[in-house]
Amino acid sequence: MFFDYTEKTQNLIDKLQAFVDANILPVDREVHAWNADPANRWKPWPGLEPLKERAKSAGLWNLFLPEEYGEYSPGLTNLEYAPLAEIMGRNMWSAEVFNCSAPDTGNMEVFAKFGTAAQKKEWLLPLLAGKIRSAYLMTEPDHACSDATNVRTEIRSDGNDYVINGKKWWISGVMDPRCKVLLLMGQTNPENPRHTQQSTVIIPRDAPDVKVIRAQTVFGDVHSPGGHCEVHLKDVRIPKENIILGEGRGFEIAQGRLGPGRIHHCMRSIGSAQRALELMCQRVTERTTFGRMLSDRSSIRMEIAKSYCDIEQARLLTLKAADAIDRHGARNAKDLIGAIKIVAPQMAQTVADRAIQIFGGMGVWQKSSPHSVLSALQMVPTNCTHPSSASSRSLNTQNPVPVGITSLKLDCYDCEYGIAALPPRRASVLQGPDPNGISQGLPTSTTAAAAARSGRTVAIVCTAMERCSNRLCET
Ligand SMILES: Cc1cc2nc3c(=O)[nH]c(=O)nc-3n(C[C@H](O)[C@H](O)[C@H](O)COP(=O)(O)OP(=O)(O)OC[C@H]3O[C@@H](n4cnc5c(N)ncnc54)[C@H](O)[C@@H]3O)c2cc1C
Repeated sequence: MFFDYTEKTQNLIDKLQAFVDANILPVDREVHAWNADPANRWKPWPGLEPLKERAKSAGLWNLFLPEEYGEYSPGLTNLEYAPLAEIMGRNMWSAEVFNCSAPDTGNMEVFAKFGTAAQKKEWLLPLLAGKIRSAYLMTEPDHACSDATNVRTEIRSDGNDYVINGKKWWISGVMDPRCKVLLLMGQTNPENPRHTQQSTVIIPRDAPDVKVIRAQTVFGDVHSPGGHCEVHLKDVRIPKENIILGEGRGFEIAQGRLGPGRIHHCMRSIGSAQRALELMCQRVTERTTFGRMLSDRSSIRMEIAKSYCDIEQARLLTLKAADAIDRHGARNAKDLIGAIKIVAPQMAQTVADRAIQIFGGMGVWQKSSPHSVLSALQMVPTNCTHPSSASSRSLNTQNPVPVGITSLKLDCYDCEYGIAALPPRRASVLQGPDPNGISQGLPTSTTAAAAARSGRTVAIVCTAMERCSNRLCET
């Protein structure tokens, strides 16, 4: 096996790197500041669309879509795309500039591979043009969804329609105003064998009764403008032609979606780890302890050397998996795809841990330049362990963000992300700070329980929500 990049790939690497250096790195801080500012919540950074146009003109567009998709594809194999994904992964937001960001990439592959001509016209073409964005709804709060055969959202046949009922969470991108289409995986045929019970359907984002219940935070960040949200679907009605490929084909579609997607995720996390390594190398030549540079300390040198080895091992394994997909198809490459899914996230976390140690306190400081890389690495695991649905629904008892009753916020009641998620008996008006003698600063669970016992109704306003003009509620 030779993993020397072809001339075509090398030219693209050079072109992409030059574009990133000239157009993305200079505005990186500005974009992070925009996304972190609560006043801009759910609004994309205004410079993004012009940058996308520039990337499109430069021919750096839709590079992820493998050559097998003919007219839709710029003609790269997974192996050729992998190093480009690594460059995009060095920074959390740049993949979108090239229309190469999740979840659109996987969704575009689904439409390109399995969509009908009408579905492609309506959804694939605007997605490929970067005019709209999309979300993928698989994971459920009440069922373990590491194994997608476990999804339970009901897709019931009713005449010429399907009617959908269920709850989904961690749905990335659904808050982005450009998100116009949802791909949902649910159950159509519970009586079938395990792998043919599920189907994938298309739901317009603005369909009535698709309700975003709350924005979820990843280590304290809502990841605006797309967010990761809990979404409830109640009697959502779609025409039968919105099914993809047919009933019982949902698992097959999900597997097809995840193969190349794993290469993208893994290579991006390798890019983040590589950047963390480079930042570590820089830091240790700037910091002196007792007359010697950190870079002269053998324990530090060892951590850096181990990081280099770990990154290179993960990179080679991921390239091998990409090559196997290209030559034998995702189904036959599933063992290697499974292997990189284990190896790359663990590697990235280990490198992130080392970087945090080497940076000392600065490694966890939000304003430091490594922080964005490190926080990207923290969310790398592809198989995340979440609190059980029961504890995460118990109104934030574990949440370290200070939550308490602070002030009256009447518009909270209209906020679909906030108080609507609480049982109605707890949601009403609180006049001024703490007029009912319920202490401020308590977890919402305690506050709500006290209010319920006393028969009073209260508004529960988290401090984060105040700062973000009610666009976020962590109940
Ligand atoms: C930032 C972020 C973005 C996300 N974006 C999306 C998105 O856009 N759309 C979407 O649908 N989902 C999304 N997810 C959800 C993600 O895909 C799931 O969290 C992941 O697939 C794991 O499913 P789960 O949370 O149900 O975990 P669970 O399945 O409950 O797993 C919990 C733990 O149990 C283990 N486990 C589970 N089953 C078994 C078993 N049979 N044997 C042994 N161990 C087992 C798992 O390995 C894991 O360690 C996102 C998650 C995050 C954190």
